[in-house]
Amino acid sequence: MRTATTVVIGAGHAGLAMSKCLADRSIDHVVLERGEVANSWRTERWDSLRLLTPNWQSRLPGFGYDGDDPDGYRTMPEVIEFIDRYAGVISAPVETYTKVTSVREADSGYRVRTDRGDWQARTVVLATGACNIPRVPAVAAAVPDNIATLTPKEYRNPDQLADGGVLVVGASATGTQLALEIHRSGRPVTMAVGEHIRAPRTYRGKDLEWWMDKAGVLDERYDEIEDIVRARKVPSLQLAGQPVTLDLNALTAIGVKLVGRLAGIADGKAQFSGSLRNQCALSDLKMGRLLDTIDEWATENGLDDEVEPPYRLPPTDVEESPPLLLDLTKGKIKTIIWATGFRPDYSWLDVPVLDRKGQIRHDGGVVDAPGMYLMGMQFLRRRKSALIDGAGDDARDLSVHLKAYLNGGAPAPRC
Ligand SMILES: Cc1cc2nc3c(=O)[nH]c(=O)nc-3n(C[C@H](O)[C@H](O)[C@H](O)COP(=O)(O)OP(=O)(O)OC[C@H]3O[C@@H](n4cnc5c(N)ncnc54)[C@H](O)[C@@H]3O)c2cc1C
Repeated sequence: MRTATTVVIGAGHAGLAMSKCLADRSIDHVVLERGEVANSWRTERWDSLRLLTPNWQSRLPGFGYDGDDPDGYRTMPEVIEFIDRYAGVISAPVETYTKVTSVREADSGYRVRTDRGDWQARTVVLATGACNIPRVPAVAAAVPDNIATLTPKEYRNPDQLADGGVLVVGASATGTQLALEIHRSGRPVTMAVGEHIRAPRTYRGKDLEWWMDKAGVLDERYDEIEDIVRARKVPSLQLAGQPVTLDLNALTAIGVKLVGRLAGIADGKAQFSGSLRNQCALSDLKMGRLLDTIDEWATENGLDDEVEPPYRLPPTDVEESPPLLLDLTKGKIKTIIWATGFRPDYSWLDVPVLDRKGQIRHDGGVVDAPGMYLMGMQFLRRRKSALIDGAGDDARDLSVHLKAYLNGGAPAPRC
């Protein structure tokens, strides 16, 4: 059995950012990775995906964008190269092709079992990602046999799909991007729309991410907002890695058909909620609030003369009575794509830290088990926590806590 003061599980950007911060604090550690560095980006994303965050916004501890296109959006090979290069620059002690199969409490620390031997560590950092398993609604079980179903993890490009209609379920960043690409491949797309957050790609001449970064929206802390449980469930912004807005109006303008949230499937018929107009109105309202915050910040900071004047997008255009039923047995729909979100996989974690919903109990990444830490989850410590750009601040905070814990001085985790 090998030993380390800290075992970090996962060599995505979050695990690597933590590795850098641990090294800066002279904490000996190893990073265990079941695949290669940046494994999720190599194996779990569709071909055409680009980061929806601009190049300048992927800042990691001691590392950032040094190319000549700061406002561009990285392709997947570019993301992999970026994270791979980071691992090299910080000389991260990564053991690749080492899958963690269990973690349990042992000897005042943790026994980390892998398919290549065991490790003993006083502290463990879980950086295995927030998006391991696609969420698929229970109604999937009632989809007729003649229809193929795919998750975004399985989807690579439209060539995989049969000719004919596609129902995309979900209208956040993934759903809108897949709907656009599949529509462009010549397949008629229907999109089932539940809760979503509309967002313009640029506003007043600047990328929306620039505004949210500057105005401090992305730095909002988990312990300062009213309803953190809710904030951690909010869907991703309707953004894509392209310089134009990809909202529902953009999709209906090219012929994508909108229906309400998929509520059920009975006798081969998909049933949609009648709330489409309300969902869209709510989304417009939330977008308006975000833009109000940005406008206020711009005024307070004397930017009004430097940027374009404020404006609002026209409301989301929804037909008067969108269909509530779609007969899936008629052959018009050949494929259903579940763009309904992702969840983490903790099937290998044998420490009793999961709540009734299978989520880890933690206080801003300090897990409810001594010496255990979590990285990379939505709104872990800040609104930006799940973004590449959010890992640095979280890793700095948590590595300080971890060091104090090793020195016997860390406060007990609040949960
Ligand atoms: C479709 C999509 C688009 C996104 N777009 C953006 C974007 O534009 N900008 C942005 O900043 N963020 C984006 N994100 C969010 C975020 O950056 C990713 O979720 C990111 O991959 C999370 O980083 P991570 O290091 O926490 O996890 P991951 O990158 O998933 O890394 C976790 C690592 O842990 C490894 N692992 C898991 N289980 C084990 C185990 N049992 N043993 C050993 N190793 C294990 C995995 O192989 C993986 O390498 C996107 C996410 C998705 C899903």
